[in-house]
Amino acid sequence: MTEALFREDAYRRESPSRIVSADPRGVALDRTVFYPRGGGQPGDRGELVVEGGASVPIVDTIYDADRKTILHIPAEGALLPSPGASVVARIDWDTRLKRMRTHTALHLLSVALPYPVTGGAVGEGEGRLDFDCGAPLDRGEVEKKLNALIALDAPVGERWISDEELDANPALIKTMSVKPPMGTGKVRLVAIEGLDLQPCGGTHVARTGEIGRATVAQIEKKGRINRRVRIVLCDP
Ligand SMILES: [Zn+2]
Repeated sequence: MTEALFREDAYRRESPSRIVSADPRGVALDRTVFYPRGGGQPGDRGELVVEGGASVPIVDTIYDADRKTILHIPAEGALLPSPGASVVARIDWDTRLKRMRTHTALHLLSVALPYPVTGGAVGEGEGRLDFDCGAPLDRGEVEKKLNALIALDAPVGERWISDEELDANPALIKTMSVKPPMGTGKVRLVAIEGLDLQPCGGTHVARTGEIGRATVAQIEKKGRINRRVRIVLCDP
């Protein structure tokens, strides 16, 4: 089982870690700052710096089949360190921060548009949510609402509840296509103070003001009642 340092501190960019196993399929560490693909958020890229200075480029991060071990996928042909070796695990921070801002903005988009979410994707400074919503949506209105929520500069925190508590409060689950990570006995809720509370395992900024200004780039009709809303963040 890999200790997931990004869960306690999404702003942590690197950590001293030890190689547990290494093959071209993936490198497992005892602890990591790398976020593994999940919940619509892509896996982190970055590097593992071996003692002596050699760097192993990491192109993606995933969970192994056990859902407990995090695998850092090395670039093709990269020379791999041996199990037991000490490394510094360092993420590509510019990319991660853009994803954190986008991810948090999508939480607020689900507040601006209080409809069931059927899908979504977090990109670098852009992202989308799909809503089950029969009514036509006005792009300008949605954009105004979203930016008003961002401007509240609300703190973003977390709370943990038991699987049973979540089962008893199904209204907490907005995203029907992404099942919250259950089965470990407790579920992580991401709380945007006074605005939003939902199960989520991703990485977020500490306050909504850090998102900066967002534009609603497109609202697309996907089927009779599905609307795909795409947002783009302005550079801070
Ligand atoms: Zn989230």
